[in-house]
Amino acid sequence: MTITTTVARVIKTDVLVCGAGCAGLAAALAAARQGAHTTLVERAPFAGGIMTCVGLPFLDGIADSVSGKLVTTGVARELAATMRICPPDAQTIFDFDPTCVYWPHKTAFVRNIEALKVILDRALLAAGVHVLYHSSVCEASVKSGRIQRVLVANKDGLVAIQARQVIDATGDADVAHFAGARTELTAPTQPMTLHFRIGNVARWTAAAEQAARRECRRALDRGELPVFYGPGFSHPFAPNEAYVHAVRVPGNGADAADLTRAEIQGRADAQVMFERWKEKVPAFRKAYLITSGPYIGVRETRRIVGRYVLTANDIQAQRRFDDAIATGAWYLDLHSNRATEGSASREPPLYPGPYDIPYRALLPRRVLNLLVAGRCLSGTQRAASSFRVTATAMAVGEAAGMAAALAAKRRCTAPDLPVAILQAALRYVSAGAMAR
Ligand SMILES: Cc1cc2nc3c(=O)[nH]c(=O)nc-3n(C[C@H](O)[C@H](O)[C@H](O)COP(=O)(O)OP(=O)(O)OC[C@H]3O[C@@H](n4cnc5c(N)ncnc54)[C@H](O)[C@@H]3O)c2cc1C
Repeated sequence: MTITTTVARVIKTDVLVCGAGCAGLAAALAAARQGAHTTLVERAPFAGGIMTCVGLPFLDGIADSVSGKLVTTGVARELAATMRICPPDAQTIFDFDPTCVYWPHKTAFVRNIEALKVILDRALLAAGVHVLYHSSVCEASVKSGRIQRVLVANKDGLVAIQARQVIDATGDADVAHFAGARTELTAPTQPMTLHFRIGNVARWTAAAEQAARRECRRALDRGELPVFYGPGFSHPFAPNEAYVHAVRVPGNGADAADLTRAEIQGRADAQVMFERWKEKVPAFRKAYLITSGPYIGVRETRRIVGRYVLTANDIQAQRRFDDAIATGAWYLDLHSNRATEGSASREPPLYPGPYDIPYRALLPRRVLNLLVAGRCLSGTQRAASSFRVTATAMAVGEAAGMAAALAAKRRCTAPDLPVAILQAALRYVSAGAMAR
């Protein structure tokens, strides 16, 4: 069947970044700051991806989770400094939340999600990025190994974007998939989670946490909940507000029907949990459900099969790569699809030291003007359970943005870009531009 598409508008740009999440926002900033004309498209009405869509406050991977020594420079650190999480020249992260389930992992917290949205808008506009929110990528056509155009659906209709270099930072490798690049999805994927926030919670105690867990277990036994995790409570936004990580929905977040089912299930489960806690746990007696989502969080879907596939062995052995472009540091954090109480998995977490992420893992094998950044880069499922975290995604995104800009300037393909030039450019990433 042939369908002819009428395009409402054509945009020409040096670098097109698809997805303005952790990886995409860093990619767009890096490409624009290198002087490339950069267009950023995002289906949500704001940048920040999971941090602003789901309200996830953690900048995990910014530091070695055991020593607290900062391992990511550039946008992640710049963001931490702008949000006053640490000074711009900090060497270690020191903002801990002892009430958080993640404690004692050394990480950083964004304590105001609405301020983050504004900071990101300002930074993108100041860098000169052409931003299009409310815009979903829905097609990529390829000729002679290059993406000729990316189609975006938005209020204008179908918009064709022609770019010298394209960065797929959609989390789900949507662009790579539409372009016919090889991707893989390891079934079963990790579960999706709808985070939610509860206000007017009384002083938090270990007893309240135990009681909330007991109510989840009872709801599971009575068939009111299909599965649950934790539940994990943290209080990054206010002492009387609980940020809840407890819903678990197995499924495929890259499948439209399954994603819809997961949203519906996640909302229903969050409601059951809230009602049980309000009824049975004294700390929640006067509480109210502030919000969930607005999107369910998708941990894992497609990853590209790139020129190098990063493995958990590489990570655990802290294998050095000549083409290293970013540093990962988070533990192997694979979430189970079954009910687990307390922690995310029944297995004890494995902590690697800081490890290299090679440039080749960003490059699909056959599409020459496409780079992939964030959780969908090339790696095994276990490796991705570490490199998928927010600050690591920013570090990889920044490298992808820089590489795309340099390749666009030199009129070469992404694989032909000499990696030494990219590595030299990454060493000069400026800190503090967001704060100005
Ligand atoms: C429930 C949950 C809890 C997590 N907890 C933590 C945690 O505590 N700490 C941590 O560091 N990490 C955590 N993670 C992992 C981490 O948040 C993500 O892996 C990370 O955000 C990956 O960055 P990304 O840029 O690849 O994806 P995202 O940040 O998800 O960004 C992808 C962006 O692309 C956009 N997009 C998608 N498809 C399209 C399209 N077709 N067209 C246009 N735009 C599109 C999305 O709207 C989104 O803005 C969690 C993940 C989940 C789901």
